[in-house]
Amino acid sequence: MRWNTDRRCFVLSKKYVLKGMKPFMMKIGSHISAAKGYAAMGRQARKLGANTFAFFTRNPRGGTAKALDEADVAAFLAEAVQNGVTGPLVAHAPYTMNACAADAHLREFARDMMRDDLARLERVPGNYYNFHPGSHVGQGAAAGVALITAQLNDVLTEGQRTTVLLETMAGKGSEVGRSFEELHAILDGVSLSGKVGVCLDTCHVWDAGYDIVNDLDGVLTQFDKVIGLDRLKALHLNDSMNPLGAHKDRHAQIGAGHIGLETFRRVVKHPALRGLPFILETPNDDAGWAREIALLREMAEQGA
Ligand code: FE
Ligand code: FE
Ligand code: ZN
Repeated sequence: MRWNTDRRCFVLSKKYVLKGMKPFMMKIGSHISAAKGYAAMGRQARKLGANTFAFFTRNPRGGTAKALDEADVAAFLAEAVQNGVTGPLVAHAPYTMNACAADAHLREFARDMMRDDLARLERVPGNYYNFHPGSHVGQGAAAGVALITAQLNDVLTEGQRTTVLLETMAGKGSEVGRSFEELHAILDGVSLSGKVGVCLDTCHVWDAGYDIVNDLDGVLTQFDKVIGLDRLKALHLNDSMNPLGAHKDRHAQIGAGHIGLETFRRVVKHPALRGLPFILETPNDDAGWAREIALLREMAEQGA
């Protein structure tokens, strides 16, 4: 296997891996409930053996955000090291945010939510904010791309310290972001290009028709050609309850779906993905997440 040597974190040869690369801590965690605040999330991450995590910035199916508790944020930051939380965190925007809704009021609602979320995330700077690009609801993908790009250009600021990530989508209904081309088209129109990137969801790309089981290298090469692997900032690790190209978006536990454990082993060990935060959004309880985190960490840290 040989990758573009100009790109960050590509492995050139086995010799390079052995001599040139420092050992590193894989960044892995799961989605964590934000109901009890930041400090509680940090402690929960420690319990799960996670050094990063994802959380909803507000009710995922509603719109209102709780007032930010400064003391809670301060406690989270103060305890981060002892909790082993090194980040970067991958905050998730609510599902109700549709930047390419047909209704202008809904688009305004989406814009205000994103602007407010980003303002709040400035209290925990240097992390990621991941969102579903949107559903074009019959207006067509090109119109959707244009509206999403417009929202980003409206909301992003030069001074913000959060990077906004477009999530790769399964292509359910009229979802935009079902192909690398659509994501590239959005990114291409964003003026503050340093403030945006991509979060790759394994279940979603599989459901969208990208065969990461039989050709992970091929899919990543395609990502690199169309978007650029330097724009890939985080991954959601989910198995899929459905076959390749199903456009369904139903997550399964790691190894319990159509993607399978061996593919996740290749994903967490892949040189092009090295060092990126891996977030589990699998249907699980705490024990299940702790188990998956330990399993994936063990697989990633096994020799080349
Ligand atoms: Fe998502
Ligand atoms: Fe996801
Ligand atoms: Zn999903």
